Amino acid sequence: MGKFGWSLPAGCGTLPGEESEGPCQVCGAFDVDDCICPECPICTEIGNPDCYDEHGLERNLKQIEGKRAYEEYIKQMTSGEIYHKEEY
Ligand SMILES: [Zn+2]
Ligand SMILES: [Zn+2]
Repeated sequence: MGKFGWSLPAGCGTLPGEESEGPCQVCGAFDVDDCICPECPICTEIGNPDCYDEHGLERNLKQIEGKRAYEEYIKQMTSGEIYHKEEY
């Protein structure tokens, strides 16, 4: 007791130059390193949903499954939050 929350050095919350883009909109990868999306041959973007609508890219099974898993996760997170709020 008493040591709680005091071991973190100040100012380490955000790293300069690091972008927080969030999960991939196509394959649902939380980390950019985990993104399995191919590079778009037209605009060279990776993980841009517009490329699948406008540039003729097609989602493969892993991308579809990844996105679905991500949406399931978000759904659980959201419902959990609502559940907790309703308890109070
Ligand atoms: Zn991706
Ligand atoms: Zn594109």
